[in-house]
Amino acid sequence: MISGFGRSRREAEQDRLLAVPRAAGRSVICPDCDAHFEVSSKAINARCPKCTRPMRFEDAELNGFCTQNVTTMGAVRVGRKGVVRGRINCGQLVVTGQLDGNVRITGCCIVQPGGVLRGEVAARAIHIQRGGSFEGTLDISAGASEARPAA
Ligand SMILES: [Zn+2]
Repeated sequence: MISGFGRSRREAEQDRLLAVPRAAGRSVICPDCDAHFEVSSKAINARCPKCTRPMRFEDAELNGFCTQNVTTMGAVRVGRKGVVRGRINCGQLVVTGQLDGNVRITGCCIVQPGGVLRGEVAARAIHIQRGGSFEGTLDISAGASEARPAA
């Protein structure tokens, strides 16, 4: 351990060690006001700089039979044995089990082999892997404002 560097330097080092694949920050879209901003990938709480809405960034894993509503800007994972019903607002969703619900994802939705996703889904992108299934309505306009063509 090298001492003498500032805290941010050490945090950057930790980010690297924790192998967060996409840089140090997490790109966030506020579900209330659609403001785009970045927070540290290690942040657990933050407020939207525009509307000051408080947000949590914890990741959640859902398993077994459950009816659950989850709101987090972190990642939600429905495990292989999960049979979940609920309303989910999250930053990223990975479905390996079954999920029936109303889902809004500011990032990417991934349905893995064996995963079943049913319901109303709004996401910036969706990736259904071979062996995964999706049934319902899909709205990927959440990313439209970012993906506008250069004028
Ligand atoms: Zn906001």
